[in-house]
Amino acid sequence: MSVLIIAESENNALKRNAAEVASYGVALASKLNASCTAITFHASNAAELGQYGITKIAHISNVPSHFDAYAQANAISAYATQNKVTHIVIGSSADAKFLAPLLAAKLNAGYAPNVVALPDELSPLTVKRTAFTNKAFAHTQLLAACNIIGVGNNSFGVIENEVNCTVDEIEATHTASNLEQISIEKITGKATIADADVVVSGGRGLKGPENWHLIESLAEILDAATACSKPVSDMGWRSHDEHVGQTGKPVSTNLYIAIGISGAIQHLAGVNSSKVKVVINNDPEAPFFKAADYGVVGDAFEVVPELIQKLKAFKALS
Ligand SMILES: Cc1cc2nc3c(=O)[nH]c(=O)nc-3n(C[C@H](O)[C@H](O)[C@H](O)COP(=O)(O)OP(=O)(O)OC[C@H]3O[C@@H](n4cnc5c(N)ncnc54)[C@H](O)[C@@H]3O)c2cc1C
Repeated sequence: MSVLIIAESENNALKRNAAEVASYGVALASKLNASCTAITFHASNAAELGQYGITKIAHISNVPSHFDAYAQANAISAYATQNKVTHIVIGSSADAKFLAPLLAAKLNAGYAPNVVALPDELSPLTVKRTAFTNKAFAHTQLLAACNIIGVGNNSFGVIENEVNCTVDEIEATHTASNLEQISIEKITGKATIADADVVVSGGRGLKGPENWHLIESLAEILDAATACSKPVSDMGWRSHDEHVGQTGKPVSTNLYIAIGISGAIQHLAGVNSSKVKVVINNDPEAPFFKAADYGVVGDAFEVVPELIQKLKAFKALS
């Protein structure tokens, strides 16, 4: 038995979800009494995975420095076959969900995304995962010789367990790609919904795009990503890449702050796996309060500036 974790990277550094994927892989290996290795691509801080119990890293840099699922799937499948890997652990980001099916096809492996816990059973391998836009759990059996577990964002958590870690530079033998990247234009200087720990989201209750400075100021203080409800992006107040919910992006953050959002079922479907939900709404009957961990009944135009002021004062103290 051998566990391999895929640690994602960007701009030559590990992504935030690498810590959780590593923690899961190490815990799984311990349950299986197996070894656990990490594969990283272009991550100058790869050795930091040692903080989460990873003792061995295969660092592959002869693939494109930007994310290329085809090249990475070829490199990983060659490594996994050579090293007789039985369990692969990957994240649940958009990149991971692009890479994992390609990898599964190459290795003839089983694949379960959005897994929320260590396996219920090791043989046959049975994992619990969210289904139907987080409305249900499915217990899925993976019956192949090698299986891929996609850990849901923020569903397992990070376990600190510092060990000595060696990083081996590996020349992947097979890195061909079906993609040719012409250009990449990225929004910079702003946390993305997928990677942020905190998301501040606004709805139609904000009345118009001219009031979004409230959402942006609050997000800036909390180092958060900004998001919105569907009508807000449909009306062009915010760009479509901020729309969250059933037909938008899923949000699995540690903290989701919803301001002037009613909490329609289609919105909740995309955000209810976030750990703590804070709702600010002037209607005490707004459905979102039923799903909230903390609620403020009040006018966003009064509550949010006060919250910003209080957070600024709090930050100034620390
Ligand atoms: C097939 C389908 C798919 C959909 N997918 C999605 C999806 O993915 N994501 C999504 O978001 N929606 C989706 N919707 C739309 C969804 O049903 C709701 O219409 C939408 O979420 C409502 O957006 P909202 O809460 O911003 O606006 P509203 O429903 O208009 O709610 C505005 C809220 O702001 C509050 N408010 C007003 N003024 C203030 C104030 N001054 N201070 C504080 N609060 C205030 C109001 O009390 C109200 O609760 C979908 C609908 C369908 C039919």
